[in-house]
Amino acid sequence: MVTTVSPRSVQCRSGELNDHELAGRVYRQARCATSCLDPDEWFPLTADVRRAREQAARAIAVCAECPVRAECLELSLRHSFGIGAYGVWGGLVIFLLAGTGAVAVFVCRGVDARTAMLAGCLFLLVGMAVTFIAIATTTAAAFFVGTTIAGVGFGLAFLGAFRRTTALAAPDESAGLLAAIFIVASLAFSIPAVIAGVATTKYGLHPTALVYSGALVVVAGIAAGMLAMRVGGEPARPAEPARETVPPGPCTCPPCAQALHPARG
Ligand code: SF4
Repeated sequence: MVTTVSPRSVQCRSGELNDHELAGRVYRQARCATSCLDPDEWFPLTADVRRAREQAARAIAVCAECPVRAECLELSLRHSFGIGAYGVWGGLVIFLLAGTGAVAVFVCRGVDARTAMLAGCLFLLVGMAVTFIAIATTTAAAFFVGTTIAGVGFGLAFLGAFRRTTALAAPDESAGLLAAIFIVASLAFSIPAVIAGVATTKYGLHPTALVYSGALVVVAGIAAGMLAMRVGGEPARPAEPARETVPPGPCTCPPCAQALHPARG
């Protein structure tokens, strides 16, 4: 049976805090950050108020015991047309990452593979470092800047890796190689996302995002260093198999009509 909890009225005394201080206080003490509830529990599916309260009953129960309800309310009211409008901003992050990546690929389509990979790793390194700082300081503008820089790096790194890998394949191997590349790329996106999702429920969104972005900084730095030092050398295209030369013989020469039908002369 679902029961709803009516939160007690709260007094907002956080008006003197700026956005950064207010967000920091909420992030540090938010009861939802340490609850085991799925974030979707805070978003009822129906517009009917009574049913919505029933659907969000468990989330409301967490909020009812939260020590920073006033600050949370003020933060969301301050940004009801800005950061709080999660749908648009959430989509903007994806657009900035993938959109700038696509533009970077188009603009740099003439760049050789190794240069594209190195530039991509450096852009990723800078972009993820800025994103890390943005998450640590809860600065939305820096977060979008970091995402944009990282998007350029993502596009260039993918362009270089794709071009360099496909150049090694024989024509009859291209289809299989493309399938393998996209399988690896999908796993590279999805497995860390699943791990981060599990970690979020256990450690909270903010620490997980910090560790995630910090790990990407380290990985991008290692990759850039290896490319700069040419670790592994240039990949060599496998040698073309030697064409089989068939010696002349009865199977390769058209049969002689006279030999087949000596009686015809
Ligand atoms: S009031 Fe609710 S949503 Fe806001 S920080 Fe507290 S638990 Fe989270």
